[in-house]
Amino acid sequence: MDESTCIGCRYCAHVATNTFVMEPDLGRSRAIRQDGDSTDRIQEAIDTCPVDCIHWVSFESLQSLQHQLIRQNLQARPQG
Ligand code: SF4
Repeated sequence: MDESTCIGCRYCAHVATNTFVMEPDLGRSRAIRQDGDSTDRIQEAIDTCPVDCIHWVSFESLQSLQHQLIRQNLQARPQG
């Protein structure tokens, strides 16, 4: 997931409740598990995203992507 693009609409977190949660401080969604919901349910969540910021990635690339996420040092989304 590209958290920098997420607009915080919560759609994905409502559809795939065991996979996506809203990060309270940043107001953005975060994928917390890789095996929490069925593939169909996760795909449905991906399809609901209005800004197309959720993507399937290979298991091998997860660690690298997590390090990139930490380095992005995202700021909280503006409220309102
Ligand atoms: S559906 Fe997309 S924009 Fe909305 S909270 Fe999820 S990742 Fe963010």
